[in-house]
This record gives sequence, structure tokens and C-alpha cells, in this order.
Amino acid sequence: MRPTGYVYDPIYLEHDAPGHPESAGRLRAIVSHLESSGVFGRLDQLLARDATEDDLALVHSRELVAQVKAAAGAGSQLLDPDTYVVARSFDAALRSAGGVLAATDAVLDGDLSRAFSLVRPPGHHATPERAMGFCLFNNVAIAAAHLLERRGLERVAIIDFDVHHGNGTQDAFYADGRVLYFSTHQHPFYPGSGDWRETGDGPGRGATVNVPLPAGCGDEALLAAYREVCAPAVKRFRPQFILVSAGFDAHFADPLAQLRVSTAGYYEIATLLRELSDDLCEGRIVFALEGGYDHTALGWSVQACFDALTGRDFAPDPLGRGPLAPAPDVSALLARIREEHGL
Ligand SMILES: [Zn+2]
Repeated sequence: MRPTGYVYDPIYLEHDAPGHPESAGRLRAIVSHLESSGVFGRLDQLLARDATEDDLALVHSRELVAQVKAAAGAGSQLLDPDTYVVARSFDAALRSAGGVLAATDAVLDGDLSRAFSLVRPPGHHATPERAMGFCLFNNVAIAAAHLLERRGLERVAIIDFDVHHGNGTQDAFYADGRVLYFSTHQHPFYPGSGDWRETGDGPGRGATVNVPLPAGCGDEALLAAYREVCAPAVKRFRPQFILVSAGFDAHFADPLAQLRVSTAGYYEIATLLRELSDDLCEGRIVFALEGGYDHTALGWSVQACFDALTGRDFAPDPLGRGPLAPAPDVSALLARIREEHGL
């Protein structure tokens, strides 16, 4: 049986700013957890490569690439109120995008069965024209475009369970029917997009599926969105490859958001996505790290994804299920979205 793999490179720690929630400490915590828990020992490490500027241009304008490069070259500064660059950020961002590309190629070529790219800076808020929301270049969108433009694939699904809407990914493929973009996210919330009525345009009509969830919804509502909307939409689309924007800021311990998901909830979602990839595209699935700002929750949640990808049982985490509280009923919302998409 082919191994499951991960991508990690220490250059990802060199993009860092003191006091910023999107810190190198996030990834240090993940790596330290995966080492001490023995998870890394069960996986193959794949070396990241550097994305080229041509790779970035599959999704981004040359102007954005030049802007980020020049900003990093000039030293520490903010590209917007949330988004910093430091001297090494451009190089880290090239290898972050290249890390997802390397994992995607390795899975497509059959060197790995599945993979998780432990990369940063994250990507899903970066639009074709603009870096924003802690994101410089859209790692997952670039990998999807690479599969379509260079590797001969015709249909790629991107599943985004970060608590924020991946506006950049949506923008990149809004009128492109070759990419199914499915997102669950807290709503209303940053960055403001992701209404369920945003469903794509032109040839992409119906290929954007947004499930905006109310604060406090918890595991049950999130899982219902995956079982009742994501699974049928992905089955109908018949992707040849599944990419996952894996952010863990929906965790109840996360300081930035309030969706109240547990580590066990992430295990269930990752299992469902792995099963979809097994049923539809010979198991070809690559996760890529996006957000997640509680360091303990990050380590355990990434482990939960690896355990799901490798068919292991859920390893109970010390954070547990979180505080009990009544969860909003999302059944009418999910029914409306199913109806909108004919599911
Ligand atoms: Zn996020």
C-alpha cells in the first residue's frame, strides 16, 4: 500500500510577526505534536519545492506577485491591516504554494496515496489580484489550476472547512465550471462573502456551493452540511482530484471564531472526505493547512485528519467536546441550499 505523506519545511517558520495570530508558533505546535505523538513516524515526508512565478500566475496577476516580492524585499510591513510580510515572506510563500503543488503531483503520480501539506503562509483569502486576510498567494487555488492547465484534469473539487469563507478561492473559479468550490463558514463573519446565493457565474454557475453557518452551530450542524450538501454535490460533480482547505479555526477553543466544532468533528469530516475521494477519484486527496489559532486544538485536529486519512481510530483529545450549549437549528438552511443546487 502506498504511503500517506506530509509536506513540511522550516522556511515556513520564517514568515512571522510578533503578536500576530497567524504566527510561526502555530506550525511549531503542529509539528511538535505530530512528532511527540508518533504520527510523523507513520507517514512519509515529501520535500516541498519552490513555486515559480509562472506557477503563481496560474491564479494571480503578475502585479500582485511583483507587489508581494517588493514588499518583502523592503522588510517588515503590512499589505492590509491583517496581512504582514517580513523579509523572508516571499520565499516562504513560494515554498508554501510549492508544498501544495509537490503534494498534489506526488498523489497524482501515485508516489503517495494521500497527503497533507503543513504550509504557511495560508492562502484561501488571497484573490487573483490581492493579498489579504493573512494570505499572500492562494496555495490551493494554484494547485487546482495546475491540475487543470498542466496535468490534463477536467474536474477538481476544493472543499474548504476553514471557519472563514475562502473568498479568494471562490473569486479564482467563480466562472469556471471545472472547479467545484464547496465552503462551510461562520456567517456573517470575515471576509463577508459566502452567502448561499453566491453559486457561480457563466460556465461556473452551480459550481460554487456556500454553506454559511450561524455562530455556535457545533459538530452536528457542520457534519449535517457535509453529509447533506457536500457529499451529494461532490458525487454529482465527479471530481478527478479533491483538494481541501483545512483550517481549524472552527474549533471551540479557537480565539478568533465561534463555530464550536470539536477535534472529533474534524475527524468525522476528514473521514467523509477521504471516503468521497476513495469512491470518486481513486483516493486522490490533498489537504493544505489554512487557519486555526489555538495551538493545542491545531495539533490534535491535524492528527485527527491524519488518523482519518490513514484509516485509524479517532484518538481522544484532552479538549474533548467542549462546553455544552444549545445549537441553532440549521435544517431549514440546509434544505434551502439543497433546493438551490438541485441536490
Ligand atoms: Zn480562517
